[in-house]
Amino acid sequence: MKKHNFSAGPCILPTEVMQKAAAAVLELDGIGLSLIEISHRSKEFVAIMEQARSLALELLGLEGKGYKALYLQGGASLQFPMLAYNLLENKAGYLNTGTWSSNAIKEANVIGKAIELASSKDKNFNYIPKEFDIPNDLDYFHLTSNNTIFGTQIKKFPATNAPVVCDMSSDIFSRQLDFSKFDLIYAGAQKNMGPAGTTLVIVKEDLLGKVSRKIPSMLNYQVHIAKDSMFNTPAVFPVYVSMLTLQWLKDMGGIAAIEEINEKKAKLIYSEIDLNPLFKGFANKEDRSNMNATFTLTNEKLKDTFDAMWKEAGINGLNGHRSVGGYRASMYNALSLESVGVLVDIMSDLERKA
Ligand SMILES: *Cc1c(COP(=O)(O)O)cnc(C)c1O
Repeated sequence: MKKHNFSAGPCILPTEVMQKAAAAVLELDGIGLSLIEISHRSKEFVAIMEQARSLALELLGLEGKGYKALYLQGGASLQFPMLAYNLLENKAGYLNTGTWSSNAIKEANVIGKAIELASSKDKNFNYIPKEFDIPNDLDYFHLTSNNTIFGTQIKKFPATNAPVVCDMSSDIFSRQLDFSKFDLIYAGAQKNMGPAGTTLVIVKEDLLGKVSRKIPSMLNYQVHIAKDSMFNTPAVFPVYVSMLTLQWLKDMGGIAAIEEINEKKAKLIYSEIDLNPLFKGFANKEDRSNMNATFTLTNEKLKDTFDAMWKEAGINGLNGHRSVGGYRASMYNALSLESVGVLVDIMSDLERKA
């Protein structure tokens, strides 16, 4: 039986996407060859890459607005230095809301001057800082839209004149935003799009080519744009699966449709966390993530019982990250409302038993 997969990443993908991906590994669309044994320059794969790039722009509402979509490698973690290589000349400002933002700051500081404008480290990143100044002479302002580990999410993005760069690894394509307010968006595929191995980068072209340093080709967005994400061999399988997931999302009505389901899932779990005295939410209420719900037991003695119960119910991937402890229910796009219902039932069963 297929488990209810709450894994934080790599994570659940739509069943229909898995089936198509599995079939394409054996034979791609009746061509007598596997997806993973054909040239990335074949007309079949070039069409897949083009489709993956245009679906991303279309779903985000960024077509014809000067943006390019790239599928790169090295994960979101390589974007931390790469974006600084391409954009950081004098100084950049960062909002530090967790482990990933901290890593982004650290890596950018290898390249130039990255300033932390505000941080929620004082409370183990359980909230999003809101009142802080953004200087008007920044090369860019960087934030992390959803903090996968701590379970917080930015609901209202601060206004600034600086170009905005955002790590959307764990909530891209999950909610409607005015994506044209961002100048560079990046996301590792393995949370809402596909298998690990490719990173989607959406960049406004007029942002590029302004720094004075020399940039190695593999780290240069302009090189990847000029080569249509084919400067070197792309991660063909992750790109294909990402394309299938974006097609699945488009067919079901796009981001607006999935956002509605994601809101229902989040409401269901957070109301259980708030009503059940055996559980306590980790994140500040107004900053709670719709993708990753973090919570702990109020009575640690119930841990073994609770763990046995959810495992028995076919739930996977609920253990919290070591820096928060407790539990983390990751509810990415492909996770059904029904799976969240199974978890919530277990939580209320525990209350009845205890
Ligand atoms: C998972 C994650 C990363 C790291 O992604 P990699 O692809 O493993 O480098 C960065 N930022 C956020 C917000 C994440 O959730």
